[in-house]
Amino acid sequence: MSTTTYPLAAREGANDRESTLEIAGRRIGGGAFATIAGPCTVETRDQTLSTADAMLEAGVQFFRGGAYKPRSSPYSFQGLGPEGLEILREAKQRTGLPIVTELTDVRDVEAVAAVADVIQVGARNMQNYPLLAEIGRSGVATLIKRGLAATLDELLMAAEYVLAEGNPNVILCERGIRTFENATRFTLDVAAVPVLKERTHLPIVVDPSHAAGRRELVLPLSMAAAAAGADGIIVETHPTPETALCDGPQQLHAATFADYLRQVEAAAALAGRVPAPEATTV
Ligand code: PEP
Ligand code: MN
Repeated sequence: MSTTTYPLAAREGANDRESTLEIAGRRIGGGAFATIAGPCTVETRDQTLSTADAMLEAGVQFFRGGAYKPRSSPYSFQGLGPEGLEILREAKQRTGLPIVTELTDVRDVEAVAAVADVIQVGARNMQNYPLLAEIGRSGVATLIKRGLAATLDELLMAAEYVLAEGNPNVILCERGIRTFENATRFTLDVAAVPVLKERTHLPIVVDPSHAAGRRELVLPLSMAAAAAGADGIIVETHPTPETALCDGPQQLHAATFADYLRQVEAAAALAGRVPAPEATTV
């Protein structure tokens, strides 16, 4: 695949260096390691705010949580929608942590953009081109997850849809792909990290939670990703994962999250990446 299909995302010519993005006073890429953590889904005010407090205490850079959820079954909980966004707004006010939250429908772009510091594009929407272009026009930073069966070049062309609208703040995310193996929820493609580093200047994060599907595997997959040179991780955590409305088995207990994070940051340091201190100017 020629990089002329994604000239803005490609790592060549003037772009032949890792980009550092500065988003809401936090840095990611070019040696700055960022952790994005929080629940899969905004369920209640208490569950969200208590997780946000724990994440601030643990020292993460961004808080995640879905108000709009892309569920495989139409009968599963679809998220709180606008009410969930209000809870995220409160979490941000209270902790100062920038918010990463998913946009599933182009009609909700204004509402989501009003709260999100980073708009998440879910794996199932990676090739929703009108959605990507609209996010590009919104000017809000975005994190694009790799589709379940998408190649790395397809992921880079998805990023190009946002970049082509003049929005430079794009983070790529490897979150596991579909293979014949069913011992894990998806198969984490660790090689995606160094391959993407060859092809693009954009920061690359790994989601160990959805790849693993169960919390016992989240630490080793996170360490592998960090040691392979990822610029960050996006990981799910919940005060009581046993009661979670979505993705309970893969969510880390918020109470022990700090121990987990110190181990991941040690692995990132092996690859020359450290959490950046918060910028003083926003
Ligand atoms: C999520 O982050 O909760 C999510 C739905 O992820 P993905 O789109 O990777 O399945
Ligand atoms: Mn989830």
